[in-house]
Amino acid sequence: MINPVYTAAEDRYESGMKYRRCGKSGISIPEISLGLWQNFGDTAPLARSRDMLLHAFDKGVCHFDLANNYGPSYGSAESTFGQIMKSDLRPYRDELFISTKAGWDMWPGPYGDLGSRKYLMSSLDQSLKRMGLEYVDIFYSHRFDPNTPLQETMQALVDIVRSGKALYAGISNYPHEAAEFAYKYLAERDVPCLLHQVKYNMMHRIPETTGLLEQAKDAGSGFIAYSPLAQGILTDRYLNGIPSDSRAARDYSLKASTITPELVEKLNKLNALAAKRGQTLAQMALSWTLKDDLVTSVIIGASSVAQIDDNLAAINNTKFTAEELNIIDSLTK
Ligand code: NDP
Repeated sequence: MINPVYTAAEDRYESGMKYRRCGKSGISIPEISLGLWQNFGDTAPLARSRDMLLHAFDKGVCHFDLANNYGPSYGSAESTFGQIMKSDLRPYRDELFISTKAGWDMWPGPYGDLGSRKYLMSSLDQSLKRMGLEYVDIFYSHRFDPNTPLQETMQALVDIVRSGKALYAGISNYPHEAAEFAYKYLAERDVPCLLHQVKYNMMHRIPETTGLLEQAKDAGSGFIAYSPLAQGILTDRYLNGIPSDSRAARDYSLKASTITPELVEKLNKLNALAAKRGQTLAQMALSWTLKDDLVTSVIIGASSVAQIDDNLAAINNTKFTAEELNIIDSLTK
């Protein structure tokens, strides 16, 4: 069947989305970004992936987050994205902020993993081909590699930006000390780090406890939080067990054994608090992550358009009382 021709919603920037600036840069991104880690690979229905991407864009979500190995299978989320770019989003390329990354395992042998210049450069070339793009907006070193001189990894980012294959550079999952080196190295070469991408949600506070949030701000970088819903735990998905179509049921990145009766009890208490605020649990979790200006954007995953809509409404209420914050701390810290 031939897809109907897509025209983006005319009111896409007036439908409520808010945008925050990435550190001290010229770039603003939506408070809610969409990630393609799971649910967009070649095992997912293409029509659903297309619906989710286009719907998000119609609502002002102009930042899509990818990596070389998103799928499953590896590379296939970028291929899916490339197909939808070609069929629908091409006329809107200049309205989109598209990321990709390299740093985790991608292909066999010593050059398809970690932080070498060889891996980052060849991986980005592959990513651009899969997505049918001439450049990405931001390219990330996906993780710190303790066995490669950090200078080599950072210089690869600098050279990638200078080559025009990425407009900005970013880091992901860097510990504090390595991030400090990265911020300095990149800034000194006039390729300042645009974003540090790290896991952050009510139940995962490491960016708070290790000072990564403040560090990004002090360095003039933005901070973008991934898995803000703890892979779906901080939603209504698991309030009554494990649904057969859920991520926990797949038992891969989110283990079914994580969903213990004690956790479910806490989630139900959090859900009751969310209801008092007039929110779903997913909305409260996203609002919480966006409650102050230390976080530039949250990258959600989704398996349906309805989940995206539920999540987008989170930005309407990001204020918390001290009492609400105390209850959340007591249930999640
Ligand atoms: P989330 O914490 O947002 O979890 C997404 C999952 O939560 C969905 O797949 C869905 O689960 C469930 N969900 C989402 N919204 C709702 C809702 N409103 N109601 C009920 N359930 C909901 O994020 P992810 O863990 O998917 O990560 C998001 C993105 O972050 C990735 O796509 C990627 O771009 C980035 N990321 C980056 C990493 C890095 O190392 N830099 C690592 C991991 C992620 P279900 O499928 O069960 O329906």
